[in-house]
Amino acid sequence: MRAIKKDIMTKHVVTLIPGDGIGPEVTEAARKIVDASGVNIEWEECLAGSVVFKQGLATGVPEETINSIKRNRVVLKGPLETPVGFGEKSANVTLRKLFETYANIRPIREFPNIPSPYQGRGIDFVIVRENVEDLYAGIEYMQTPGVAQTLKLITRKGCEKIVRVAFELALSEGRKKVHCATKANIMKFSEGMLKQTFEEISKEYPTIEAHHIIVDNCAHQLVKTPESFDVIVTTNMNGDILSDLGSGLIGGLGFAPGANLGNDIAIFEAVHGSAPKYAGQNTINPTAVILSSLMMLRYLGEFEAANTIEQAILLTLQEGQALTRDVVGKENAASTTAYSDEIIKNLGKKSTFWKARNYTPLKMPLISRNPEVVKANSKVVGIDLFIQSNSTAEVLGKSLEEIMSDLPITLKMISNRGVKVYPSTGTSLDVVDLWSCRFMSEEQAAMSDQLICRLLEKVSLSYTWMHLEKLTIFGERLGFTKAQGED
Ligand code: NAP
Repeated sequence: MRAIKKDIMTKHVVTLIPGDGIGPEVTEAARKIVDASGVNIEWEECLAGSVVFKQGLATGVPEETINSIKRNRVVLKGPLETPVGFGEKSANVTLRKLFETYANIRPIREFPNIPSPYQGRGIDFVIVRENVEDLYAGIEYMQTPGVAQTLKLITRKGCEKIVRVAFELALSEGRKKVHCATKANIMKFSEGMLKQTFEEISKEYPTIEAHHIIVDNCAHQLVKTPESFDVIVTTNMNGDILSDLGSGLIGGLGFAPGANLGNDIAIFEAVHGSAPKYAGQNTINPTAVILSSLMMLRYLGEFEAANTIEQAILLTLQEGQALTRDVVGKENAASTTAYSDEIIKNLGKKSTFWKARNYTPLKMPLISRNPEVVKANSKVVGIDLFIQSNSTAEVLGKSLEEIMSDLPITLKMISNRGVKVYPSTGTSLDVVDLWSCRFMSEEQAAMSDQLICRLLEKVSLSYTWMHLEKLTIFGERLGFTKAQGED
């Protein structure tokens, strides 16, 4: 575990990426306010995003920016546009993956004077979203021209890291409970791994209440009683959706800050994007990036400056003298710069809306980068072979049984889109041209690679097979699911 030392006189060097669209306006507002608070920060301004794509660099992040981040380890970043319709990757994803910022922290809290159906309810929770795995690992295949597949990759190590961050965050902010939101009832292995890891690790944090909640119910409860949540830890896709729901509860994207934390690097940025239609108009709400810079100050151990700026933001919103277009409408709006200047004017004043939290440094779990080896006796007892064919289940099944009749293997079943279709269960189904054919060894004997290769050789004389999954038993535990209708 690494603790960040607090020292008010410390000079911090921070990489500043203004970004695209409204990015330069909102990051400039944050920089001005942070500087006015008296913290000693040297900003190192760097490029990323559309201007870099236009120079022909497909990652959107030049070497100088990468080196600056490696040196400084802390980044305040404006939004970066994702190119649509051509091959380039998102520069945001490049940064996230390059620096393994595996924890996405998104605080959701009520602000004074900001219109929302939940005003007065005291919403104040944090979503801790796993940031690099899950469906966002970007591993996709076209199995046939009409069947696409995305791999949902969840690792035990990834679960441990994000669960520990959630509990450490609860401790560092004086919060009382952590909910783990999963879809473990359906995806028993992948989402189930987060649930199981959460249940194990929660025992190490006896002072924090730990609850598991099914993610769809979590969405429902967030709309009904959002004030009942404190910290929610969840997988990447669930977190993406829940956190946008969260920002909707408290008045929109203008008020939703975020941090991407890794073991070595931290990138602070608003949840919103580059809102290109508002670029250069000096009308956009910079609060989300200013709040992100507060998270950065706390990460750097500058708690006093963060509290001072927080009070000034709350007072500015409370007084309502200079609010942006998204809050008060075009007619009565103050400009981005007028709103930021008002916050600077209020530095050092107290807001009655301020809730004092006893922030302490967040301890990031330091888990080795080496591969995690989970030991278990494993035995391959079969394979699922995915075959492309325009045939019917009945014809395919009979023909495969004939093809493999001299091998010590049985065709246990064929499924299509996860439902057993051979031997027939009598239901009439909509099928596609990708069939999952489950071959098992006789009496659960180990199935050797040589035997699998012989089977493949025979099948490939008559059919096109697209991919193969080994069916493994780990100790007593099945390492594969059964198809709907399979016994
Ligand atoms: P967006 O930029 O977040 O804007 C969507 C809408 O949200 C805006 O039109 C505006 O709503 C409102 N909004 C956003 N920021 C606001 C702010 N600071 N204050 C007040 N209202 C705000 O989403 P998008 O249009 O889908 O994405 C634009 C580009 O940004 C895309 O290229 C996308 O890939 C990129 N993006 C980047 C990041 C990132 O860098 N982390 C995140 C998300 C998206 P109204 O129109 O109602 O006023």
